[in-house]
Amino acid sequence: MTVADLSAQLTAYEGRPAVLGGRGRDPVDAAMIRHWCEAMGVQEPGAGPGAESGAEPQRQDVAPPAMLQVWIMGGLSGTVGRATAYEELVALLDRAGCTAVVATDCEQEYLRPLRTGDEITFDAVIESVSPRKTTALGTGHFITTRTEIRANGELVGIHRFRVLRYAPARAGAAAAPAPALSPAERPRPVINRDNAGFWEGVAGHRLLIQRCTACGRQRFPWLPGCGECGSPLWEAVEAAGEGVVFSYVVMHHPPVPGFGAPFAVGLIELVEGVRMISNVVGVEPGRIRIGMPVTLEFVRYGGRSGGPSRGPSGGPSGGQELPVFRAYEEGL
Ligand code: ZN
Repeated sequence: MTVADLSAQLTAYEGRPAVLGGRGRDPVDAAMIRHWCEAMGVQEPGAGPGAESGAEPQRQDVAPPAMLQVWIMGGLSGTVGRATAYEELVALLDRAGCTAVVATDCEQEYLRPLRTGDEITFDAVIESVSPRKTTALGTGHFITTRTEIRANGELVGIHRFRVLRYAPARAGAAAAPAPALSPAERPRPVINRDNAGFWEGVAGHRLLIQRCTACGRQRFPWLPGCGECGSPLWEAVEAAGEGVVFSYVVMHHPPVPGFGAPFAVGLIELVEGVRMISNVVGVEPGRIRIGMPVTLEFVRYGGRSGGPSRGPSGGPSGGQELPVFRAYEEGL
């Protein structure tokens, strides 16, 4: 099939139904509104994106307008009422090699706010199918569907949803080259008020953990309060630097800038009872085992070798001081 033939066939689907007789799986309800608000970080039901369109006062039983799509989602079992025309359109694109799909954008119009108890029905039409487009993902066609959403039979919103159905770009053609592996590129730690003391310890080759001065519980990583009793009071204590491999993974792929694969990431249980994530060195990554004894040491990655450490961020020599754990194979 030529590109022109395919385009003509695709265009013929414009205006045909995508969903007929769709029905919301549940009436608008307060629990879903609350979950959505929490997930989106919206404090007040009725506030949030699109709220300006609602003339009603903010009320617990009014859904944020931007939730519009929530009420028509089909869930894992899929959309009920998907029209034959839409299935045919997708099958046509599949045969043309456009087997991948990605949602690209969504536009909504709000006619009135939805309230708890509203019963939702909807119909959707295939509004447009674009000419062939080449994108970074691959070449394909944008499909825009227009869904009219009704509450108790009254039109309350319009939801336009656009997807790109495309033939994935050839594997390798678009793949980025593997990043160069240079210790100088190791990611820098994020140092803030809560963990600055830890990194000051590292600069002085001391592994510091926190101990709650109210209940005595030791903790790592550094946190402003005690997870046991909630107290903000703590003191720093120096770990002995002995522990065992509690768990580990060996990273082979994908390449991580600053790390030469394979490398081992260990979850180390210190004799003090806390655990920390660090590199395990001294043993081939494939020979690391759970329970292996390990000993703390400090290494300097990147920058000028041998230079003095000048603070937690590495100082003027540009390197990075880090605690790692050296493993010893049993019997050696
Ligand atoms: Zn405590």
